[in-house]
Amino acid sequence: MMRSMMAQLQDEETLWQAVMARDAAWDGKFVFAVRSTGVYCRPSCPARRPRREQVRFFAAPAEARAAGFRPCKRCAPDEPIPPTQAWVLEVCRLLEEAGRPLPLNELSRAVGISPHHLTREFKAALGVTPRQYGEALRRQALRQELRAGESVTAAVYAAGYNSAARMYASGAATLGTTPNHYRMGGMGMDIAYTLVDSPLGRLLIAGTSRGICFLSMGDEDDPLLEALRREFPQAQIRPAGEDMRAWVSEVLAYLRGELPDVSHLPLDVRATAFQLRVWEELRRIPPGETRTYAQVAEALGNPKAVRAVARACATNPVSLVTPCHRVVRTDGSLAGYRWGVGRKRRLLEQEKHLAG
Ligand SMILES: [Zn+2]
Repeated sequence: MMRSMMAQLQDEETLWQAVMARDAAWDGKFVFAVRSTGVYCRPSCPARRPRREQVRFFAAPAEARAAGFRPCKRCAPDEPIPPTQAWVLEVCRLLEEAGRPLPLNELSRAVGISPHHLTREFKAALGVTPRQYGEALRRQALRQELRAGESVTAAVYAAGYNSAARMYASGAATLGTTPNHYRMGGMGMDIAYTLVDSPLGRLLIAGTSRGICFLSMGDEDDPLLEALRREFPQAQIRPAGEDMRAWVSEVLAYLRGELPDVSHLPLDVRATAFQLRVWEELRRIPPGETRTYAQVAEALGNPKAVRAVARACATNPVSLVTPCHRVVRTDGSLAGYRWGVGRKRRLLEQEKHLAG
């Protein structure tokens, strides 16, 4: 008897953690009821968290109702959890066409879903709100324009649209849906690469006509090339001609300490919406400075996402341009670096020297 009570308490602790984290992965697995309000909710309910002692857990909505609680109007815990919905993808498409955030009411009307439900389901599916998604698109479009160095042209718009389509694709991929134009493994991508000597060893820079998609450092050429092929197994990969020269010379100047930063160079990366947000945040860290994983998570408005931030840093395919080397542990130690901790240390020392 004692033992099963202990087991139950431990389980409840797990459930309580899920409630505190508003973890949508637990939706449909249990509901929690709040004694003071008489209402029960899904774990992901956006409403304010109750005090722990006010909370009871139930395996199913029917049990909570039988105990005298009523369903929350905000999170609608009685509604079944739908599989990934076509309308989520439709909202992505609308935002991509706009290339900027759209009013929630407008999106709501277009897909026939209530604004609240739309935001909640969109966030559960993609990890960001429709507004954050629209803002990421706008930043991306802006960068493309700056890179082209011209006013808003159809070409720039088209480029922005295409990269947005990749974002959409990667978001959709995490949902288990594969839109027709998802370029799996870089399918249809034309990637050119250059291998050069640098102050940090051999340097491989690979890119498309839109930007750098892979930047890696190592001691030998073969492992660098293999890593590129692993990242883009379906892409056409060829040695670069003249097309990459400008990017290569900027990166080399940076590594020689002649340029403070290369985070302005254009990127062409496929990523989940969350990875994109983390990488954007890394590009805001000024050269010569560092942030901890916790600070980056905080800046993203998601202080609990420290481990997810660390993962996003570890999977960054484009070193230097997305300066994941500027992220360190809370105790100031360097943590890992995909391209070697020694290189990370040298980069940070050089940047600090330049900045100071
Ligand atoms: Zn609720």
